[in-house]
Amino acid sequence: MSVPAYDWIAHHAGYQPDALAIIDLHSTRRFSYAQMNARVDRCALFLSAGCGVGRGDRVAMLAHNSSDHYEVEFACRRIGAIFLPLNWRLAIPELEFIVGDADPRVLIAGAEFMDQARVIARTCETSHLVECDDGADSAYEQGLARTNGRAGIAELTHDDTWALVYTSGTTGRPKGARVTHGQAFFNAVNSAMKCELTTHSVNLAFLPIFHIGGLQLFANGIFHTGGTNIVMRTFDPVDFLNLLSDPELAISHGFGVPTNFLFASQLPEFARADLSRLVTIGVGGAASPRALLETYAERGVMLQNGWGMTETCTLGTLLTKDRALDKIGSTGKAVMHTSIRIVDGNGADLPTGQTGELWIKGPTITPGYWNRPDANEQSFTDGWFHTGDAACMDDEGFVSIVDRYKDMFISGGENVYPAEVENVLYQLDGIAETAVIGVPDDRWGEVGRAYVVAKAGSNLTEDAITSHCQDNLARFKVPKSVRFMDELPHNATGKVTKHLLPRD
Ligand code: ADP
Repeated sequence: MSVPAYDWIAHHAGYQPDALAIIDLHSTRRFSYAQMNARVDRCALFLSAGCGVGRGDRVAMLAHNSSDHYEVEFACRRIGAIFLPLNWRLAIPELEFIVGDADPRVLIAGAEFMDQARVIARTCETSHLVECDDGADSAYEQGLARTNGRAGIAELTHDDTWALVYTSGTTGRPKGARVTHGQAFFNAVNSAMKCELTTHSVNLAFLPIFHIGGLQLFANGIFHTGGTNIVMRTFDPVDFLNLLSDPELAISHGFGVPTNFLFASQLPEFARADLSRLVTIGVGGAASPRALLETYAERGVMLQNGWGMTETCTLGTLLTKDRALDKIGSTGKAVMHTSIRIVDGNGADLPTGQTGELWIKGPTITPGYWNRPDANEQSFTDGWFHTGDAACMDDEGFVSIVDRYKDMFISGGENVYPAEVENVLYQLDGIAETAVIGVPDDRWGEVGRAYVVAKAGSNLTEDAITSHCQDNLARFKVPKSVRFMDELPHNATGKVTKHLLPRD
């Protein structure tokens, strides 16, 4: 029997109507659960009665982070529609591909993205284009204001799709991972259980909402427990530290990618920031260098390293705070409602300590990609999702992510996992940021190349980097060349986009 999906906002609006649901920092809007619920209801009516959105229809949104996103997400839940947050960093043809694939009935676009949105809506023949402007007078606000009555709450189950989140498509066309109500629910339960989310928690939401991390960690977890979300329009490391230090906001939770924390830790404000109110700060989405985790531990913040993917609706494994130091470098054990295996190329389980592909199964895993039977066929075996990540597990069940197989390269017949080399490079004080990739080589097939951003004022040389690597790594892992850059390319989430680094 299918499990019914509840409407979390409607619940809290009844149970604790005056509790603060959301603060939108950019527009300074604040909504209690009762107020948010009323806006969700108006939005649901506007979408259904005003734009003809029915059950299963997609509602796209192209805008900077704001409270409007979560409102639209929960309005979609109320009417059984599917929320489609779009990556505003993408170029028009990339967005046209996604919008063409998902075929939304409505595209809601921030005022600053209306030019692009007009082009996309025209090519993709999207019936309704609606401008929103962070609460200022706009078609969106007028649409909400015009509605009358109550939207009602659609009867849905955990198997119904709530959102479509497109992968970044670094190795091909992006795929829309379906996120069901069941996935979001089990992820919220896991977040609460492992990261101490309560009604009193205050989460700083700063990852982009079009990324699964921005949607779920800990934003949806907080809407499930009934705490408060504070939404940052975009991440800024100085603002981030100031917000964490603010006693009135009393932020207790946050989740980011390693570069968010790396950039913040390199600021002079880091030493002065008041981090004493933090309960849980999670990090994931990419490998965290040990040196970074240690820097935060010295400030009393045990970053909880979590591994996950769009397809796993974030958390698949997570390190607890009490083991954050002695298991540093690991991403912890499988969270509840999740089973994992490490397998060889034939899908057979590998013994403890051996590196193989991480497979995962459970109700937090996507039931499949939108319109992609071919990818669904290749990505699952008996319900086990193939993650494409190389990982190993120790005898206590702690998982270490070695690297993505697609980032691994082979030098003279030996596998090199760039994340291991980057960890060693981060031991050097003068390195602000680094990324290692494999580049073609006549003799070895491929060799490593380190791209390095040096800290201001450091006198780091290629020789010093090479000799540090020679002292700490097997010869075949030592990068054969070092290139200095002013900055590395990042995607909108803040992850380094290695495929954009020159290979020649
Ligand atoms: P994208 O492909 O756009 O980066 P995802 O967020 O789905 O989208 O990326 C998931 C991938 O990020 C995982 O497959 C893994 O390679 C990497 N990853 C996620 N969390 C961690 C972590 N804690 N440590 C190392 N790698 C991680």
